[in-house]
Amino acid sequence: MNPLHAPVSCIKGIGPAKQKALEKLGIRTLEDLACYFPRDYEDRRNKLPISELRPGISAVVKAVPVSAEKLHGTRSGKSQFRLTVEDATGSLKILFFNAPYLAKTFSEGGEFFFYGKIAGGFREIVMLHPDFSKAGDEEARDILPVYPLAAGLGQKDMRRWVESILPMIAEAEECLPPMSIERNRLCGAGYALENIHFPATRQKFKEARYRLVFEELLLLYTGLRSIRSVRASEKGIAFSRDVDMGAFTNTLPFKLTAAQDRVLSEVCSGMESPVPMNRLIQGDVGSGKTAVAAAAIYKAVMSGFQAAMMAPTETLAKQHYADFLEMFGRLGIKVGFLSGSLKPAERASALSALASGETGVLIGTHAVIQPDVAFSRLGLVVTDEQHRFGVGQRVKLSQKGESPDILVMTATPIPRTLGFIIYGDLDISAIDERPPGRIPVITKAVRSSMRQTAYEYVRKEARLGNQIYIVAPSIEENEGSDLRSAAGIYEELSGWFREFSVAMIHGRMKQAEKDRIMDGFASGQIRILVSTVLIEVGINVPSATVMLIENAERFGLAQLHQLRGRVGRGSRQSCCILVYENASDDVRERIGIMLSTDDGFKIAEKDLELRGPGEFFGMKQHGIPGLRIASLLKHLKILEAVKAEAAILLEEDPSLIKPENHSFAAKIDGMFGSVEIGI
Ligand code: ADP
Ligand code: MG
Repeated sequence: MNPLHAPVSCIKGIGPAKQKALEKLGIRTLEDLACYFPRDYEDRRNKLPISELRPGISAVVKAVPVSAEKLHGTRSGKSQFRLTVEDATGSLKILFFNAPYLAKTFSEGGEFFFYGKIAGGFREIVMLHPDFSKAGDEEARDILPVYPLAAGLGQKDMRRWVESILPMIAEAEECLPPMSIERNRLCGAGYALENIHFPATRQKFKEARYRLVFEELLLLYTGLRSIRSVRASEKGIAFSRDVDMGAFTNTLPFKLTAAQDRVLSEVCSGMESPVPMNRLIQGDVGSGKTAVAAAAIYKAVMSGFQAAMMAPTETLAKQHYADFLEMFGRLGIKVGFLSGSLKPAERASALSALASGETGVLIGTHAVIQPDVAFSRLGLVVTDEQHRFGVGQRVKLSQKGESPDILVMTATPIPRTLGFIIYGDLDISAIDERPPGRIPVITKAVRSSMRQTAYEYVRKEARLGNQIYIVAPSIEENEGSDLRSAAGIYEELSGWFREFSVAMIHGRMKQAEKDRIMDGFASGQIRILVSTVLIEVGINVPSATVMLIENAERFGLAQLHQLRGRVGRGSRQSCCILVYENASDDVRERIGIMLSTDDGFKIAEKDLELRGPGEFFGMKQHGIPGLRIASLLKHLKILEAVKAEAAILLEEDPSLIKPENHSFAAKIDGMFGSVEIGI
């Protein structure tokens, strides 16, 4: 038994309360603690005299407290504790927040180390809420870890606990294949863990970090590759080569673009091959992914199979359903619909038509992948706007049929450097062209103080008979927030714009209500639709020409781009108006990007730069394990080395069954949790 598998409660000093606090950080076992990496280090060899401190830096100061003061009732309701400390070169003010109990700690006198960020201006600097420890306590070490903490835990606790298990950590089991270590000149697991917590020198820290980043990326990448190769070794369906695709595409009211044609033929050859297809269709908003998916579905049905298409919201699913009824109805293919809000009788009849094979295509929400949904011969599964569906769900889906082909569609372009990780288990096809005749959307940014002009424009457009979306970040006004809400705007506009019909739609409404409103908007009865981000994904109403976004500063770039993509779908000039409140640098930068480009790919790259990959991709949503130490942005070079190593590893041992790869395979299993990847 691995001693690191013991619960943290076996460490002296960790009682039930601390144990609970640690659990909040995901730390249950000694191993979790060993793998809870510092966010920073306090390097005491870089002690600075107080006279050399400057705003903006983080520094270690060794000084003596000389006076203390409790300050109450700040505006934010936080209590403050102000400490003045001195060294031989001067004095420094230190502010602690919500920590009145510290008064006692410092009243005993003596020298302390303070480690924190220096803030302040020209006249006076302060150190903000630093970590501190009594000089002499941990004197033996120069470089101390600084951990991300939760309430009820202190740096000193964490350091002491980790230190107490260092001997065990140093003996940690190696999980990487010995050859991988050798080929990449990595240090061992124990050494790496020991030195990531308490590095003796900068050099050792670097070796440790390199190894841990490498390990994490190798696990992630190899894991994803294995999902893919396991699926590739399964027997899939070889769809008929003889389906006349023209018989379908000729019924569409338009001619496919060259890009749609190319992607469709990639999809078709994937479907014809006996290896299960796992393909991602990447295409900017409005590039026409639905038509390609429909053609693939046609091929599946004409080959004698059923197809399913899932959408992330019921509203979007309904829209696809309506489109598909039209497209497939005239070809004599029965289209079914399934969602959580069907009445029991409707549901029962949908399920029986599906099980009997009468239904050729089933459209729906997540309801489609529930266990009680039985197909007669499921051959193809399409998921629309895939960023809401994770690896886990994809796997679950593929278990519904024998091994159905899978097509996922997304409007979030993934920078090429990262696509192979995020979609490591998929092949990628890109629709990199928009249908002809589209007039680019004009984008304008308007300060909230000028809101009135924006609404005058809305009035003008509405008078011309055009339709308008207005999007707000929240449904209702919230106490203490001055964010615009859909309900507030709806009320205002209903007063101002009596001549037009104004409606509101949001996620808390009953589905029937949402349907009624979307229908009204699609048919043109509703002129102005006030909404939350509900309409962000996929909605297609070509007659809408204005997208006005309130509190645009609250939305991410990808979201803004998605929203803007709701207009400019018809033959009339469209306009997107970003009303923003707070012109911080960050806001200005994001809005500037929206004004300067319409290219989803560029926007995605910027978004990634600004937000970092974790948030950008919603890694967890994708079913991709969160990264503890590696960064897909910072460690691109290491990622290259990892790719090469994974290729060698899988070439030599495709299913990772050799004894020397056992611990590695086990660790991948652990990392992907419930996702069955069959290694
Ligand atoms: P998205 O890729 O964002 O899902 P859609 O599939 O909803 O885009 O298509 C957007 C609009 O473009 C729809 O109204 C669709 O009918 C239209 N469209 C798709 N392909 C073409 C084409 N080749 N020529 C003209 N219009 C097209
Ligand atoms: Mg779409």
